[in-house]
Amino acid sequence: MKADLRSDTFTKPTPEMLSAMMAAEVGDDVFGEDPTVNTLEKKAAGMFGMEAAIFCPSGTMTNQIAIRVNTQLQDEVICDFRSHIYQYEGGGIASNSGVSVKLLDGDRGRLNADDILRNINPDDIHKPITRLVGIENTVNKGGGSFYDMAELKKIRDVCDRHNLVMHLDGARLFNALVETGEKPAEYGELFDTISVCLSKGLGAPVGSLLIGSKEMIKKARRVRKVFGGGMRQAGFLAAAGIYALANNIDRLKDDHRRARTIGSALQEAAFVCEVKSIDTNIIIFLLKDGYTTDQILSSLASKNVLALSFNPNEIRMITHLDFTDEMLNPTVEAIKSIH
Ligand SMILES: *Cc1c(COP(=O)(O)O)cnc(C)c1O
Repeated sequence: MKADLRSDTFTKPTPEMLSAMMAAEVGDDVFGEDPTVNTLEKKAAGMFGMEAAIFCPSGTMTNQIAIRVNTQLQDEVICDFRSHIYQYEGGGIASNSGVSVKLLDGDRGRLNADDILRNINPDDIHKPITRLVGIENTVNKGGGSFYDMAELKKIRDVCDRHNLVMHLDGARLFNALVETGEKPAEYGELFDTISVCLSKGLGAPVGSLLIGSKEMIKKARRVRKVFGGGMRQAGFLAAAGIYALANNIDRLKDDHRRARTIGSALQEAAFVCEVKSIDTNIIIFLLKDGYTTDQILSSLASKNVLALSFNPNEIRMITHLDFTDEMLNPTVEAIKSIH
């Protein structure tokens, strides 16, 4: 057994997903002629109660397209400092769209309406025009934290009153939805654009969707082409996405349960000083003095448990489709054995 908890992007297609992919009917999607891509886009839009969707190679691209189509040169985006759009998209907000970013410090990455309101620039020629609010749900660097619907509604209200676009980086939105019991359409009602990843916990090999109004997605098609994201017989990949949306959402609950079990083992481990709150599939823990991340990561690796470190003294594990119940006990034993 090898428990690869470095990221939920490491999942590989199951035999069932692979057969769905191999059976896909395909065409040239740049010409709009791939029936499987068209079906996926329609299904996703329908799920969220929105007009249209576009299939892209990555969540970085769907986020960057959303920012590009909704902003103009010299505008400003508001987001939490932990946001993927700021931390992990290579400064693309600046290079792709020529806009600046105002970083807030939310509660485990979750912004609130008052904070956003305070950070909207006044109408003053010295200031960039505040144009878009980027919300991430669940928050990756917030340890998989998720939003309260009531707060999101307040944020929508602020956006309406100040003419701001509300974009959702929902790379792991379905992890939040299986916990809250909310429906995708409730999110479709609130946000102008929504990005979801098929390649994380949902287990597809490649692909993300940007969902929004017809007008927005029409503009997005032009930007996707410019970004080099127009794919030809992409239906083989879209078929994996259709399979993932139909089969792999409810099971995310199992990932969350397994994450909590690992969390309990870590709480009692000799080398752990604190386990951050585990709300979904992300586990973040801090090491006691005298232990280093290199040392703990290699001890775990020698017992076939892989994890990652992004900050000094801090280790992250993420559960996913390819981390099974059979791997759970050996992982717990590996944690217990390190002193
Ligand atoms: C993974 C991820 C993305 C998209 O990443 P890609 O690797 O470009 O698909 C976007 N936002 C968050 C929060 C993520 O975790």
